[in-house]
Amino acid sequence: MTRPYNFAPGPAALPDEVLAQAAAEMLDWHGSGMGVMEMSHRGREFGAIYHQAEADLRELLAVPANFRILFMQGGGLAENAIVPMNLSRGGVADFVVTGSWSQKSHKEAQRYCTSKLAASNAATQHTTLPDPASWQLSADAAYVHVCGNETIHGVEFQTLPDLAALGSKAPLVVDFSSNVASRPTDWSRVGLAFGGAQKNIGPAGLTIVIVRDDLLGHALPVCPSAFDYKVVADNESMFNTPPTFGIYMAGLVFQWLKRQTEGGLTGVAAMEARNIAKSTLLYDYIDGSGFYVNKVDKACRSRMNVPFFLADESLNESFLAEAKAKGLLQLKGHKSVGGMRASLYNAIPYAGVEALVSHMREFATRHG
Ligand code: PMP
Repeated sequence: MTRPYNFAPGPAALPDEVLAQAAAEMLDWHGSGMGVMEMSHRGREFGAIYHQAEADLRELLAVPANFRILFMQGGGLAENAIVPMNLSRGGVADFVVTGSWSQKSHKEAQRYCTSKLAASNAATQHTTLPDPASWQLSADAAYVHVCGNETIHGVEFQTLPDLAALGSKAPLVVDFSSNVASRPTDWSRVGLAFGGAQKNIGPAGLTIVIVRDDLLGHALPVCPSAFDYKVVADNESMFNTPPTFGIYMAGLVFQWLKRQTEGGLTGVAAMEARNIAKSTLLYDYIDGSGFYVNKVDKACRSRMNVPFFLADESLNESFLAEAKAKGLLQLKGHKSVGGMRASLYNAIPYAGVEALVSHMREFATRHG
């Protein structure tokens, strides 16, 4: 069976192999007589699934031993509250606003701490990245928050900021919801990274948090126990019932990622090479087309989410309808930006981007 290419921003496409394996195991996981959704989270079977998923994620992202991997619930937006509840100690936190998602993080944190704006790219309609050297970092910040990849505006940090080099002692908090596992993470620059699973990792409902262990144990009294990172870590993510099926699906995706190869590379390095090739193919076509435009500064264009506009916006609906007829789904842009957006997460193969570019070229030739 060949399925359409699904360019959704999230929840997003998952690899066919992963979905097929989940379907095959749905009624009976490994001869246990139970589907994964029906298992006790404290049983031997689920314990094996959980520990394998955690070990595979640690290996794939090269997570150092002094970081804990937490499988939580609530998604990225809940983390906008959970992070300040755990890290801020009610003091100051700095926010670098580069698009809608970091804007939301900055706003939500105001409920728990003094949430300061260290830098913003609002003046360029979120199409640039403010130079880290210009950030107004607070001397007493409990942490500095950045969004590694702005899913709506298509702006991505190509390297994470080195806060120590900027004279800050604060840990860096990274929202990696929409680029986790699409490229390696430089843990030497990170104190905590979080992300909803529903783009590169699995179904919605699972949230990944990776946190340096010295940042545990400082939650505000108001923090719910189920969201206190230390409680979650001490209980191996089983203080409450974790999203068991989501963890299982993520585990299948991790196994799939480990099998991926690209020019001698494997795992996340292979994905990065493939994601560079995919996004370069699309951006190069857009830039040379004379019909489509991407407004993001080339230095910070996202490899994952490519917003673009047609020269004649009255053609948007026919562009989308014809794309759908060719098996190219969910290309409509976010309502706050308009136009189109192609999300090129790990599960989108190079051939999917070739098919998209072929549609774009054919459409532009007819309407240009
Ligand atoms: N951060 C980023 C970068 C996102 O892309 C999203 C969702 N698109 C969120 C946070 C919010 O995640 P959730 O809907 O899981 O709360």
